[in-house]
Amino acid sequence: MPSNNFKVGDRLCVVAGPHKNKIGTLKRFFQEKERVLVEGVNLCVKHQKADPNRSDPGGRVKKEKPLHVSNVALVCPKCAEPTWVRHEILTPDAEGNKKRKVRVCKRCKSRIDE
Ligand SMILES: [Zn+2]
Repeated sequence: MPSNNFKVGDRLCVVAGPHKNKIGTLKRFFQEKERVLVEGVNLCVKHQKADPNRSDPGGRVKKEKPLHVSNVALVCPKCAEPTWVRHEILTPDAEGNKKRKVRVCKRCKSRIDE
């Protein structure tokens, strides 16, 4: 799967592994590692030391761990189902839109990007 299918802010659904069916927002995309950080998914607890310089109380901090892109699918904003996308090149039109690439839901065929 090409790794440029996701954008920060997308809603992603986990489709494989122990966190299957969890949905969250894409926070960070590690393109070179093909990994994504999904808000609230794959949490691990980090024990952080108190830092007197930052008045940080320390303790247990929950942090997301990145997931591999092959384990997540985009949740289509139109049909609300986890889906795969294809890309469509739009030519310049009368409304002044430039040539651009948009993602299209393979399930309901709607455009995901405007
Ligand atoms: Zn759809």
